[in-house]
Amino acid sequence: MAFLHRSIPFICLLALGACVAPTTDNPNVTQAEWKAEQEAQAIAAKQAPINFNDKKNYGDNQVEELVGRLAPIAHRVENAATDVCRSLDAKANCTFQVILDSKEHGLNAHADGQNVVIYPAMVDFAKNDNHLAFVIAHEFAHNIMGHIKASQQNTLIGSLLGTAADVAAGAAGANTGGIFSKVGGRQGLLKYSAAFEAEADYVGLYILAQAGYKIEDAPDFWRIMSQANPDSVYISSSHPTNPARTIAMGKTVAEIRAKQKAGQPLIPNIRPKK
Ligand SMILES: [Zn+2]
Repeated sequence: MAFLHRSIPFICLLALGACVAPTTDNPNVTQAEWKAEQEAQAIAAKQAPINFNDKKNYGDNQVEELVGRLAPIAHRVENAATDVCRSLDAKANCTFQVILDSKEHGLNAHADGQNVVIYPAMVDFAKNDNHLAFVIAHEFAHNIMGHIKASQQNTLIGSLLGTAADVAAGAAGANTGGIFSKVGGRQGLLKYSAAFEAEADYVGLYILAQAGYKIEDAPDFWRIMSQANPDSVYISSSHPTNPARTIAMGKTVAEIRAKQKAGQPLIPNIRPKK
């Protein structure tokens, strides 16, 4: 079995080079900043918890009401997302749409590469229009930055490398039961998933600014999410923690306001190519 243990770092190294990485130069969060915000969010989650039932079913009338509130915000963010998308890649397909899926439960929304699907509980929960607009803008950013395709590609690369290790182990007489393929796929998916989330927050804020929303309100969205779900103050596997997101977004707000003050175009900073 020594062969199997040696193969794991081998897979990691290969996957590291092959995976699709984020492209924007979004702000870093220091350990000290993260710790201080984490403490503040943990205290708020304890002292002012938000008990929101995200499993409830919404009747037709309630869904209609939610759609009525969502539609104008979605429209405004869609237009801004198209502008930001074109400023990054003039040839890209920048036609986007927001869909409310009344069958889904949970404080969630997702991007499918083209559309943004938002769940009724999220519309209901995000009482502040700036927050609801940010949720939509964040999901559009996933589409604009090609995260869905990149994640699929990274999963595939990881599992292919894992399969190669399974085959090599088989040739050496060890039956891995396909474990390297599974581990590799997961490694590939997670390789940049937190970084993609940070990038979607970053590009999402540019969309929000372009749409004319109050971007200063947006970082608070994660503070409120922590009050509703205290675990997210600490847990991070596929996403950055809420405190890290709050801090990074605060820095992005400052970056955007500085650009506006200097009369510069509202385009996210792109990391220089190595
Ligand atoms: Zn996301």
